[in-house]
Amino acid sequence: MNPVATVPNSSLTVPNHSGLELVFSYSDFDAHVMSTYGRFPLAIVRGDGCRLWDAEGTEYLDFVAGIATCTLGHAHPKLVAAVTHQISTLHHVSNLYYIPQQGELAKWLVGHSCADRVFFCNSGAEANEGAIKLARKYAHTVLNISHPIIITAQSSFHGRTLATVTATGQPKYHQHFQPLVPGFYYVPYNDIDALEQAIALLDHDERQVAAIMLEALQGEGGVRPGNINYFQRVRQLCDHYGILLIMDEVQVGIGRTGQLWGYEHLNIEPDIFTSAKGLGGGIPIGALLCKEFCDIFQPGDHASTFGGNPFACGVALSVCQCLEEPNFLVNVIQRGEQLRSGLEVIASRYPKEISEVRGWGLMNGLVLRDDSPVTSMEIVKGAIHQGLLTVPAGPKVVRFVPPLIVTADEIDRALQLLSLTLAKLVVE
Ligand SMILES: *Cc1c(COP(=O)(O)O)cnc(C)c1O
Repeated sequence: MNPVATVPNSSLTVPNHSGLELVFSYSDFDAHVMSTYGRFPLAIVRGDGCRLWDAEGTEYLDFVAGIATCTLGHAHPKLVAAVTHQISTLHHVSNLYYIPQQGELAKWLVGHSCADRVFFCNSGAEANEGAIKLARKYAHTVLNISHPIIITAQSSFHGRTLATVTATGQPKYHQHFQPLVPGFYYVPYNDIDALEQAIALLDHDERQVAAIMLEALQGEGGVRPGNINYFQRVRQLCDHYGILLIMDEVQVGIGRTGQLWGYEHLNIEPDIFTSAKGLGGGIPIGALLCKEFCDIFQPGDHASTFGGNPFACGVALSVCQCLEEPNFLVNVIQRGEQLRSGLEVIASRYPKEISEVRGWGLMNGLVLRDDSPVTSMEIVKGAIHQGLLTVPAGPKVVRFVPPLIVTADEIDRALQLLSLTLAKLVVE
């Protein structure tokens, strides 16, 4: 992601705790914080529902939700209540002891998925690391494979730690971080012949396929939905060869697609899956979930100091309780349909720029043509000036991932703001 524009010079005051004011300047920030992100020159200081305000008081409609993370939007009363209760009662004790909130959250997740057991950590990458370790231990101890291979998809995204960035099938994320972690192999997404060939190719000597790790819908890689026939066949192949199926549900899980889990769209059950982004509604938490047969971690195999603490689990439980409300997922489905049909109308007005609208529930992408004169970054930047926040998913896709509580009026408003943006950007 490239920075939007030159960073403003002025300093701003930002409300802080204890009534103190924090003085903020972009140049001071850039002098002290590592340059890992190409940031937009906005300092966001307050949120309410699907609205955000920057330090200068400008209002934005938030169709990013902290990158598909703020499930309940900003300052949701249930989230505020859970945070307040938990921080003033008990926030952290370590896994030396039993944590009731952790047990309750695990019970909820098991009761609402195909999994039997849960391990808690703090992020998506960490959950995927756990899945990779679990699959490797299963390969060594159950399958007797000495050099297990995990097959992942091209254009996937699984995280930024060394193992998960290796699992990520996008060369741009590997550059300058070699040597990568051994034991990964990439295939094109949604291509069953390529997968069968890879399994046949790898299925000799002691290098064998232990697991296949896939997203139900590729998020960062361009909002590409999984093909149901492909995934049905992947499940059959895994059953046939005794290969573990790992699904990365970090972005699609927790109701984002209108179903609680992305794999429900594909009519399959994974053996292992991971969750993070939306699970804590913006409070860091990750989870590794598996079926009983592959729950083979023993004490000492894997751990996390913060993982599953009372604070993160108490807050995630409040998110889960909201997801259970009768109309919650119905809203995700309906608002998603409303958004996609509005985007289709806009797309039909810009046939030279836009090729397709795709997605599930409230995870949608406006896909640009390869030869489109405008890029996704230009649209995202233009939309900011209209008061709408969106996020690119690669150079050709604008991603729309609002909080799941978004209203019909807010969807209409976002569509209007996007129309204004395109009208300014595209000169016919
Ligand atoms: C965001 C994301 C991750 C990484 O999650 P972090 O919390 O940033 O480590 C992994 N997989 C998918 C599918 C994601 O969208």
